[in-house]
Amino acid sequence: MPTLFERILARETPADFVYEDEHVFAIRDITPVAPVHILIIPKAPISGVAAVPESGDHQHLLNAARLIAEAEGLTDGYRLVINQGEAAGQTVPHLHVHLLGGRPLTWPPG
Ligand code: 5GP
Repeated sequence: MPTLFERILARETPADFVYEDEHVFAIRDITPVAPVHILIIPKAPISGVAAVPESGDHQHLLNAARLIAEAEGLTDGYRLVINQGEAAGQTVPHLHVHLLGGRPLTWPPG
């Protein structure tokens, strides 16, 4: 069964796309926790960090994050988060990076 993000990529479920290239796409989170909250998602349906192959083109996620952060004007900084597993808050079993910005981000997180 396709994941939510596969359905969004196939345009079967609507979403606000902010970026797409050959390898990744990015959408605004439906429940943002910051003024900028974007999900950067590989097109390959990898279930999470724990399933990332040892070799592969993983720089595409970070390249997209940098380009999107620049386009969103996040010159003061931003945070990238990946939740791996239910205990860490992962709810969609398709690898994705949260890009958060537009407000002060405390560290360490809760
Ligand atoms: P996770 O909790 O797996 O790290 O992140 C999943 C994210 O997907 C959550 O932040 C949640 O708000 C977001 N989300 C869940 N359903 C939808 C949806 O239908 N559309 C969009 N754009 N985001 C969604």
